[in-house]
Amino acid sequence: MNKSTDVASPIKSNRNKPGFWRVLMRTTILAALIDTSFFFIFYYLDSPILAWVNIGSVILYAAAYFAFKNRNNRLGVRLMCAEIFIHAALGIVLIGWESGFHYYLMIFIPALCISTKKNSATLSLFLLFVFYSGLACLNWFIDPIQPINPIALQFIHIFNLSVVFVLFSYLSLFYIQTVKKANKKLHIMATTDPLTELLNRRHMNYLADREIARLKRASNSISVLIVDIDHFKRINDEYGHEMGDKVIIEVAKVFQTQIREGDLLSRWGGEEFLIVLPGADTEEALSHSLRMQDQLKQHDWSNKLALPYAPTVTIGISLITEFEQLSNAIARADNALYQGKQNGRNRIEVADIE
Ligand code: GH3
Ligand code: MG
Ligand code: MG
Repeated sequence: MNKSTDVASPIKSNRNKPGFWRVLMRTTILAALIDTSFFFIFYYLDSPILAWVNIGSVILYAAAYFAFKNRNNRLGVRLMCAEIFIHAALGIVLIGWESGFHYYLMIFIPALCISTKKNSATLSLFLLFVFYSGLACLNWFIDPIQPINPIALQFIHIFNLSVVFVLFSYLSLFYIQTVKKANKKLHIMATTDPLTELLNRRHMNYLADREIARLKRASNSISVLIVDIDHFKRINDEYGHEMGDKVIIEVAKVFQTQIREGDLLSRWGGEEFLIVLPGADTEEALSHSLRMQDQLKQHDWSNKLALPYAPTVTIGISLITEFEQLSNAIARADNALYQGKQNGRNRIEVADIE
């Protein structure tokens, strides 16, 4: 278990994971309500000590609630743990093992595995086991101090079992949802460019390789386009780096409106984009490139970004040959792009097939 992740170290990441602490705060309220009802039940069942133990529990849960509220999460967790251990032990000593108060200790098994370092988790789990089995053994040697009638005992047992069952299910669902959300976030971070939200270079390579392998089997043509914004440095120099960023984002948006389903559009680096057009021959790649240039020209730059002119792009195109790797086709498109820059920019050049 990696202790440095949010999920693995909930105590340290209150700010990033408010959901976890909200769940614990809700749990303290619920537990305090349950213990309040236990106060009346045990009073009615002639077990006054256990009744007052529940009032102690309510006080501990209230303190834990306010500790969480004041972001003193460590104290909150400690108070909750103390309550569960003391309550379990007293419940069993006072009315016996059959009360089922020991079930609450089970909640510590996943909690310890999730929130503690591997070594201390192993030690804590061992100590928990010793405590748990110690209580079970104690039950063989001493009789309950304040026994209650067997039917009431069965009722308390089923009640405790149900509460632990519901609590386990709730916490498991919450944990799974948290992990799913974290995975989704990680996947997005690993595959998209943060500025433009297009595919990033690594994911583009992965998807394009897969697509190319598929299309080569079907003997379909595939075009590769490298697009580079012309004189981009001037935009940075004249209007600032932030404006430069906005221009990259805006160009990405314009390109996004132009691609068809199945086309791959990525930010390749800096002010360069790589586009893979599955099923497109050179002619189609050319008309696609012209359309993109045209859209950039027609875009309302002065309104959108207060930029007084429309930036232009130069595009290098290559058609992937049957036995060619993606990297080679990109290198040829890059050479064509270079040629386009040499020939005056705002141009489209098609690479020769090797
Ligand atoms: P050319 O027409 O030959 O492509 O000229 P250029 O000025 O566009 O190209 P050059 O490669 O000389 O400059 C690209 C500049 O883009 C250099 C770099 O500082 C800037 N740049 C790269 N990434 C970013 C970015 O994410 N944001 C901003 N604002 N600028 C970037
Ligand atoms: Mg460049
Ligand atoms: Mg450029």
